[in-house]
Amino acid sequence: MNIGFIGLGVMGGPMAGHLAAAGHRVRGFDLTPGAAAARGLETAESAADAARDADVVFTMLPHGGAVRGVVEESLAGAMAPGALLVDCSSAEPWLTTGTAALLEARGVGMVDAPVSGAGWGAEAGELVFMCGGAEADMARIAPLLDAMGRKTFHVGPLGAGHAMKTINNVITAMAVVSTTEAMLIGKAWGLIPSVMADVLNVSTGQSFWTTERLHQDVLNRKFEDGFKLELMLKDVRIANRLGRDQGLDLPMLALGERLWEQADRDLGPARAVTEMVRWCETQIGGTLRDD
Ligand code: NAD
Repeated sequence: MNIGFIGLGVMGGPMAGHLAAAGHRVRGFDLTPGAAAARGLETAESAADAARDADVVFTMLPHGGAVRGVVEESLAGAMAPGALLVDCSSAEPWLTTGTAALLEARGVGMVDAPVSGAGWGAEAGELVFMCGGAEADMARIAPLLDAMGRKTFHVGPLGAGHAMKTINNVITAMAVVSTTEAMLIGKAWGLIPSVMADVLNVSTGQSFWTTERLHQDVLNRKFEDGFKLELMLKDVRIANRLGRDQGLDLPMLALGERLWEQADRDLGPARAVTEMVRWCETQIGGTLRDD
């Protein structure tokens, strides 16, 4: 298949690499020069250039506004009728349908297919896809998603994948804060952080955060996670807005949004999501170190 891939960062780079390794012709574009070549892909000169002649175009961009911008400025005019846009970004579901409408006028379909699995999942081809769209479009892209991931869920119509993704991530975001606060209680009381992590990992307090992040990036004080804190804040904001739009009052998630916003303001851009722990430590007092 001829594939265009737009957005070759932490996630998009390895994902596009897997598609090329599976034998597809992949033309990549990113605002960062050299991103396509670094993954052994053909370099497109622009998003429109990547989309020309493509059967399927993937987007893996920071948010739905960026996807809409690329579609409006480039893809709507460049994609051929019958082609398909697959947006893997974690995006605002309320923007997804509008973006699809811009393409529909050209006879181009759209599926939202955000992912879980982080940078390591993208590198290993072990992502989980949660998709919204038409059954026939899902069947068409199934082999492509299989080349990049270990599991695909078709969770509903267009926008459903993006809604599912925000629900997944807001749960993780709240677990980050609650795990940090609870472990700081333990530390102040006299428990050892690494021992607490070992207990949690085989007990009911276990989560993705305790099994995959505490020892790997927090307790060793690395704070190098490839997922940026501002992207998690975006996900928390999407979940809160989605809830408000449904008329729901969500006191804990609203407080969580304020905490993530304050951390983002204090820490500045391009910080690892694990830095949230360090920010919480500063606010509360105490450090999740074994000494
Ligand atoms: P990233 O910042 O590493 O990559 C985004 C890339 O998009 C950058 O290389 C940037 O140059 C490029 N870009 C931005 N605007 C562009 C444009 N108009 N045209 C072409 N390229 C453009 O971010 P990431 O971590 O790869 O995340 C991408 C998406 O995946 C986000 O929506 C994020 O929330 C989601 N996500 C990330 C992770 C993770 O662990 N990193 C996990 C799951 C989902």
